[in-house]
Amino acid sequence: KFITFEGGEGAGKSTQVRRLVTRLQTAGLEVVATREPGGSAGAEAIRTLVLTGSTDRWSPVTETLLMYGARRDHIERTIIPALDRGAWVVCDRFADSTRAYQGGAGGVAPELIAALEDHVLAEVRPDLTLVFDLPVEVGLARAESHAAASGHAETRFESKGVAFHERLREAFQQIAAIEPDRCVLVNAADTMDGVESAIWTAVSARLRA
Ligand code: C5P
Repeated sequence: KFITFEGGEGAGKSTQVRRLVTRLQTAGLEVVATREPGGSAGAEAIRTLVLTGSTDRWSPVTETLLMYGARRDHIERTIIPALDRGAWVVCDRFADSTRAYQGGAGGVAPELIAALEDHVLAEVRPDLTLVFDLPVEVGLARAESHAAASGHAETRFESKGVAFHERLREAFQQIAAIEPDRCVLVNAADTMDGVESAIWTAVSARLRA
């Protein structure tokens, strides 16, 4: 099974990825935890290229192509081998982040992104996607305090502006609304334990973990 986590900044995805992975492992499953952009050596190198430097270093279309270059390598080298041997794959961000960041918020044509999905993702699609939803102010405040605490230089939320993040939130909400069979909208403003149990309910109901 292939599970992806999606959402804007400061939603608490990475904490919940770790908690879900632990629960699945406790249930006796082999789990590969991975992330995007990244998840393979080549894709991690592309991640560094994309996420360092100023936010306008790459145009939105170039960024889309770099993300898809990284994604293809990640799929070929990490995701497909894991799924083929029967492991569960839990991925922090995947194709919906391109739809939302570069598409909905960045203005890249949905036709280009849909074509990339068709030809580059091919048959590799998530069985379940948890879409973290949170008011923009709350997410940005959380992301800021997290960045300050960890000395992270990588996050690029600062320079994007609130309007960008509002479009981003709307794009993720729309994905969840359009594909209800695949997606579950998660209220990320809830407590960590509340979010964890909502996720476990969704995973066990839909995937019989
Ligand atoms: O998952 P995390 O929030 O750590 O993602 C790292 C950064 O990558 C985010 O801050 C986001 O700005 C950026 N990103 C992006 N486009 C994507 C995926 C991630 O700009 N498609």
